[in-house]
Amino acid sequence: MTDTKRLAALIVALGLLVAVMAGCRGAPGPAEEAGVIEAQEAPAEPVSQRKVLVLCYHAMSPDAEGTFDVPTGDFAEQLKTIHEGGYESVLPSQIADYLEGRADLPEKAVCFGFDDGPESILTESKPLMDQHGYTGAAFLISDSVGGTGQLDWDQVRELEAAGWEIGSHTVSHARPTKIDRAECMEEFRGSKETIAANIDGECAALAYPYGLYDASVMECAREAGYRIAFTIDRGPADWSDDPMRVPRQMVVNGNSLRTLSTWLAQDKLHLEQIDPPIGERVSTTPTITAALADEDVTPGSVEISCDGNPVSCDAGADARTITFSPELREGANNIRLTYYGSPRREVSWLVVAEPN
Ligand SMILES: [Zn+2]
Repeated sequence: MTDTKRLAALIVALGLLVAVMAGCRGAPGPAEEAGVIEAQEAPAEPVSQRKVLVLCYHAMSPDAEGTFDVPTGDFAEQLKTIHEGGYESVLPSQIADYLEGRADLPEKAVCFGFDDGPESILTESKPLMDQHGYTGAAFLISDSVGGTGQLDWDQVRELEAAGWEIGSHTVSHARPTKIDRAECMEEFRGSKETIAANIDGECAALAYPYGLYDASVMECAREAGYRIAFTIDRGPADWSDDPMRVPRQMVVNGNSLRTLSTWLAQDKLHLEQIDPPIGERVSTTPTITAALADEDVTPGSVEISCDGNPVSCDAGADARTITFSPELREGANNIRLTYYGSPRREVSWLVVAEPN
């Protein structure tokens, strides 16, 4: 081979390499279409723009009366609505894979999460989900496993063997934003170790008790080795989510099928340049700014609330930036933005306020 031919061959080879690498991020290849992406160097971005509604349930019983216990009959109707809508169930680690750019998600996906580890997951919820071929995730309080009305480890393993994912809901269900960093690490790491020691697979997912988090709590979750951590913020999870702060829609006693359909249809309201950044502790009278990132959404079309109370907002001259000054209570406050267009879009996050 002459030097010129060698150089030409090298250029072609480099071109192919570039094309192959571009393919990793561009149009899906056959492996990606199959939902599996072969190991590559540290993928970090989702391969598509999917959303997934993550639901958060607690106990169930035929004649449930409390706020958080859902009547079994209502759950059966909800599953029928979800199934008729063409949704597949996905597990937390599949969402983690997706957010890490390792796999795709189905176009229509729902994730079923159950907090606190009640025995009714196995006796009431799972049999109904089995009828639709759905699996879910049980988030256990590791110190409570085996207690009255709670799953024991044999039952946990029975769920796992049936394809369910076993996640953590901490050791003792302490409020993560109310304990110090060392205690938080112990709650997150200790429960992960106990659960992993009692199941076959990994304990890769965490659900924050009461949905409470701040920057330090999220850091603890990451440091404890979780791949994904769930809040109870509003709106669907999607490609833009931080894996340590994935929203879940809590389902309570009395939620209608119409409400469920709204949750299934809605998109996330995307914000940029949120200041103060999510997770940063603030005074009780902060000024919050953010830029609307969705093209069809204008400041005038967005409603803002803080713990359910309306908050007025000023629009910047660029018609993208919004500024608002909620009056917060000490502790966690829920900031929620809703766009009542089509599709409806929603996002919320927690702001933890400290005394001024
Ligand atoms: Zn809980």
